[in-house]
Amino acid sequence: MEKTYSSVPAGAERMAPIVCPVCGESKTSPYWDCGDFLIKKCRGCGHLYQNPQPVFGDLKNRYQDSYFDYEISNEEAFFRLMLLGLEDVGFPEWEEKLKTAGAFLDIGCATGCLLASMQGRGWKVQGVEICDPSAQYGIKKRGVPVFIGPLEDAPFPPASFSLVHFSHLIEHVPDPRRLLARVYELLVPGGAAIIVTPNRAGFQARLLKKKWRSCIADHLNLFDKKGLGRIIGETGFSIVKTQTWGGIAAGLAPAFIKKPLDRMAKKFGFGDVMLFHVHKAGT
Ligand SMILES: [Zn+2]
Repeated sequence: MEKTYSSVPAGAERMAPIVCPVCGESKTSPYWDCGDFLIKKCRGCGHLYQNPQPVFGDLKNRYQDSYFDYEISNEEAFFRLMLLGLEDVGFPEWEEKLKTAGAFLDIGCATGCLLASMQGRGWKVQGVEICDPSAQYGIKKRGVPVFIGPLEDAPFPPASFSLVHFSHLIEHVPDPRRLLARVYELLVPGGAAIIVTPNRAGFQARLLKKKWRSCIADHLNLFDKKGLGRIIGETGFSIVKTQTWGGIAAGLAPAFIKKPLDRMAKKFGFGDVMLFHVHKAGT
């Protein structure tokens, strides 16, 4: 089975050791040796993360033309999954109240599918995308506003947004706590965020270990519910709902096994991808 896309790390990337992004501990144990990169297990909290990591100035060079090719060829599939995730957390039921309280921000908006869809539902929208050709595509072909660069460079005033979405992004960033803190700052009181990331405590990760499709060079952090839940909570958010889905990837099992396994993964929380619906206190 194919892994999800990963840009091949350039040999010239500068690497640096880091401390655990979840608990700050520096001691680790070896976990998965993936050749080009090493996944370590934090001795403090059990979080899995790459250590050492490429420095950010080199890391962002990965997200260029070939990343655009990957995003454009998968945009419909990714968009469908994003809609399913939003439906799972009852989005249409709480959408109206938020729509009047601020704008929608999609961080890592790729080619802008979700932004265009939300705009069509009456939202004021804004995207952030580090991959220049993907962002340009969204701006020119879909007419949606996209800031090109990392979120920390975007000049948005605090309390600009009532809903922030970031799907398959937090595992790519070197400092997930900083990302969450900035999202918190950008939300209005009472605002919400939807966070989607691979679940390393899911069935597929447990079965396939370092051959798991989400164990790739671009994923610096491999979260489980406990680790991600911890940094979300410590940022100040309350967790409204969590959900996992995807029992086994298509191609790994016949349909009569895949279908019930997918249902069970969702029910019991061992799905391959997890979603957190979180809330900032306030009215
Ligand atoms: Zn830790």
